[in-house]
Amino acid sequence: ALSIEVLVDWLARFAARVARDRVELTELDTAIGDGDHGANLARGTAAVADRSEHGDTVEAEAKSIGMTLVTTVGGASGPLFGTFFLRFGVAAGPVTSLDTRGVALALRAGLDGVVERGRAERGDKTLVDALAPAVDAFEERAAAGDDLDSCASAAREAARRGRDETAPLLARKGRASYLGERSIGHVDPGAQSTTYLFDALVDALR
Ligand code: ADP
Ligand code: MG
Ligand code: MG
Repeated sequence: ALSIEVLVDWLARFAARVARDRVELTELDTAIGDGDHGANLARGTAAVADRSEHGDTVEAEAKSIGMTLVTTVGGASGPLFGTFFLRFGVAAGPVTSLDTRGVALALRAGLDGVVERGRAERGDKTLVDALAPAVDAFEERAAAGDDLDSCASAAREAARRGRDETAPLLARKGRASYLGERSIGHVDPGAQSTTYLFDALVDALR
């Protein structure tokens, strides 16, 4: 099950990964943006990991994570990652752990929040191109009765494929869209960091 402890560990692992690979995110964002995605996310995820107070329900903890991300990441990605966890928390509700179906519902709600907020569709070359297929894959496995681990693994693989598929796309949202055709041939930085999020989830569930 995804307990509060697993949720805390998920974000700690995400923060560690972003800290480790922030240069990769910086390089991707230098190619098609303003080069700050690594710094933005490193600042925000470190703030999440450094919180001294934790929620006593999945809802409260996820909302605290979301609010911290919204207020510390900055840029376009801060409100989006933040909204993901805020909505994840609302969907989770005041429980101390989520079963596989509960995680599927929370992930779906998080994605819906990101899409409402950023208005990006699949194929616009944004983090939605990694997040949406990941949530779909998780849901599909959950509906088939697979355990949480294999749902998360399927989501991770789908996020990676979605990330790879951003490379040939023309950016239609965010800063990269200012580049027009010159955005083609580069992986989207937010899609890359989204793969870190699912890598961290798989590891936290082990
Ligand atoms: P900024 O572009 O403000 O510098 P970041 O560099 O932190 O912010 O984040 C850039 C990432 O945000 C992009 O790679 C993309 O994945 C994501 N992004 C930007 N705009 C949108 C949007 N409208 N919807 C979804 N994701 C978006
Ligand atoms: Mg940027
Ligand atoms: Mg910026």
